[in-house]
Amino acid sequence: MATFKAIRIDKAEKGTTATLTRFDEAELMDGDVTVRVEWSTLNYKDGLAVTGKAPVVRRFPMIAGIDFAGTVEQSSHPQWKAGDQVICNGWGMGETHLGSYAEKARVKGDWLVRLPEGMSARDAMAIGTAGYTAMLAVLALEHHGLTPAHGPVVVTGAAGGVGSVATAVLSKLGYHVVASTGRLSEADYLRDIGAAEVIDRSELTGPAKPLAKERWVGGVDSVGSTTLANLLSMTKYRGAIAACGLAGGMDLPTSVAPFILRGVCLLGIDSVMCPIELRKTAWSRLASDLDPGKLTEITHEIDLDGVIEAGAKILAGQVRGRIVVKIV
Ligand code: NDP
Repeated sequence: MATFKAIRIDKAEKGTTATLTRFDEAELMDGDVTVRVEWSTLNYKDGLAVTGKAPVVRRFPMIAGIDFAGTVEQSSHPQWKAGDQVICNGWGMGETHLGSYAEKARVKGDWLVRLPEGMSARDAMAIGTAGYTAMLAVLALEHHGLTPAHGPVVVTGAAGGVGSVATAVLSKLGYHVVASTGRLSEADYLRDIGAAEVIDRSELTGPAKPLAKERWVGGVDSVGSTTLANLLSMTKYRGAIAACGLAGGMDLPTSVAPFILRGVCLLGIDSVMCPIELRKTAWSRLASDLDPGKLTEITHEIDLDGVIEAGAKILAGQVRGRIVVKIV
C-alpha cells in the first residue's frame, strides 16, 4: 500500500482533529493530474482548518492546505505532462477536495496555472493564496481605473499576508501606500517593504461616520467589519476599496453614503473560484510586480510538522508576512 505524509483532518466528538500522519494513496480523490507537492503555505483559512475554529472543512477525512506548487507526476489532461511545474490555489482544496499539506495531490488539470518563468516553486508559495489574492485586489483597483497619480492607497492588516504583499506590490507600482496595522512595532518592517506611511489600526476601528475626511483614493482591505466601514467613509470621490478579508469580522456596519454621495465603489475579491484566465494574469503580474528581495523579507519557512502550531498563531494575528511550508 503506497502512502504519503499529510496533515489529516478528522471529525471528532467535539469539532475536528488535525494530525500529521500518513495517507493512503488509494484514498486520493478524482482528478486528471497527480502532482508531487513541493511547497505549500499557511493562509488564514488554513489556520481555521487546522484549529477547527471555523467549519471550513466540509468533507472527512480531509487533507488540509488550500494551495501548492509542485511537479506533475502523471496527467491525462491534454495541457499537462509529467515534469511540468504548476501552481494550484483554492478550488475547494482543503475544504471539499483533498488539500495540499501532503506529498501528493490529485486535482483537475483545469485548476492549474503554470509556474511563471523565473519564479521558483518556493517563491510561488511564499506568495501563496494570500499574495495571489492581494494581486487580484490590485487588478480590481486597476480595472476600476486607479493609477498612482490619483492619490494615496490604504492597506489594512498590513503586517499580515495579504497586507504585506499588497503593500509591496502597490509601492513597486508607484503608489503612496498608507499601511494600517495593530502592530506598530512592525512599522520599520512595513516601511522596508514599501509603506510610505504607517497608521495605527485604532484610527479605523469603532463605528464609522457615514462620511469622514477623505484620506485615500483606493485600498485593499483584509479586515472587514468596522475597519472596512471606516475605509469606505474616508475614501475620496470616485475611489474604490477592494474587500478580500474578514480578519476583524464578517459584518459590514456601513451606510450607503460613500456610494451615493462620493461614488465610491466596493470591489469584492474572491480567490477560490476565480476564473483561470484572471489567475494566469495575476500570477504573471506577481512575477513582474513583486520585488523578489521584498518577498524574501516578507517570508519565513517552516516544515509540515510546524503547520498546526503556526495555524493557531495566524488566527491570533501573530504571524508577520507570509509563511512558506516545505513539503519535501
Ligand atoms: P493574516 O493573519 O496573515 O493577516 C491578517 C491581518 O489582519 C493580521 O496580520 C492583522 O494585521 C490584521 N488583523 C487580525 N485580526 C484583526 C482584528 N481583530 N482587527 C483588525 N485587524 C486584524 O491573514 P491573511 O493575510 O492570510 O488573510 C487576511 C484575510 O483575508 C483573512 O480574513 C482571510 O480569510 C482573507 N482572505 C480572503 C481571500 C479571498 O479569496 N477573498 C483569500 C485569502 C485571504 P496587523 O497586525 O497589521 O493589524
